[in-house]
Amino acid sequence: MKALLSLLFISMSTLLLAQEFSLPALPYSFASYEPYIDAQTMEIHHDKHHQAYVTNLNKALAGTKLATLSMNQLLMDVSFRSDAIRNNAGGHYNHSLFWEILAPKDKQTSVQATFEAAVNAQYGSMDSLRKALTQAASTRFGSGWAWLIVTPDKKLMVTSTGNQDNPIMDVAKDRGIPVLGIDVWEHAYYLKYQNKRADYLGGIFNLIDWGIVSEKYTKALVDPLLSEIEKDNWMALKDFHKVMAQTYHPAEEGNFVPLRTRSGDLLAKAILLSASKPPVVKDKANIHEALAKLEEQCEKIYELVEKNAKDAVLMKEITKAHDLFHQVEELCHD
Ligand code: MN
Repeated sequence: MKALLSLLFISMSTLLLAQEFSLPALPYSFASYEPYIDAQTMEIHHDKHHQAYVTNLNKALAGTKLATLSMNQLLMDVSFRSDAIRNNAGGHYNHSLFWEILAPKDKQTSVQATFEAAVNAQYGSMDSLRKALTQAASTRFGSGWAWLIVTPDKKLMVTSTGNQDNPIMDVAKDRGIPVLGIDVWEHAYYLKYQNKRADYLGGIFNLIDWGIVSEKYTKALVDPLLSEIEKDNWMALKDFHKVMAQTYHPAEEGNFVPLRTRSGDLLAKAILLSASKPPVVKDKANIHEALAKLEEQCEKIYELVEKNAKDAVLMKEITKAHDLFHQVEELCHD
């Protein structure tokens, strides 16, 4: 019994440690979305395209320490991840949402009052919102998605992203929690509509379950992810962090080539960071002071590299810069 229990425990903790992503079932049969989306497109889109994102995401994560991260954690820091993770985590998240908000006409639930009131207040009417979404979807160049998101200030916003990016990602121009996404990749419509994206968009609005979108809106308003996005929304900090990581960590292991060749880049990013405007929640005097010190420290490192200083000297100074950076990060999380 004891052996059995510990076996069970081991397999459960393995599950907890490395949770594999899996393909969610489509809520309705492939043919239920006719005539707006044909059965064959639904089948290929779900069983082949979406499955490939899931398979390739699991492959990219397998055996790495990223395998324990949640989907939101993967998306939030996607600028630090490989292209394989960016494309496939995005692909998996985006399609999972897409299947949830689509329903055949006779299965759709009605729009809820709070959501409709928010739409009316910002867009005038549900019809104007549909127009704004159609506009975003039809003007997205190449492959991508049109979105309705809830922004950190709890407003609705229509936006779009390229490829399999989405607004949770730190690379997105407009960030927030998506409550509706429209796939405008040709694989979503080519068999029935060929290259006529406008005709597909005309059809897709017949399949949107506004009741489910309303529920997603209500949930997004109280989702802690919203304030995480707000706190995270500081690209200059991320840009600096990247160069810091790419120079400091090799130096720790005795390789000073990245630091010696990129000390100018490090200084440039520190200057941009110190001059950048932090998100409102991070806009505090002590952060600006710490950033000024960080900039000074990076300038010192740059000058030392110019003078061909010894590795040991550089190590001491880059460690100081690294400590200063972490002070900034801690101040941000207070
Ligand atoms: Mn797709």
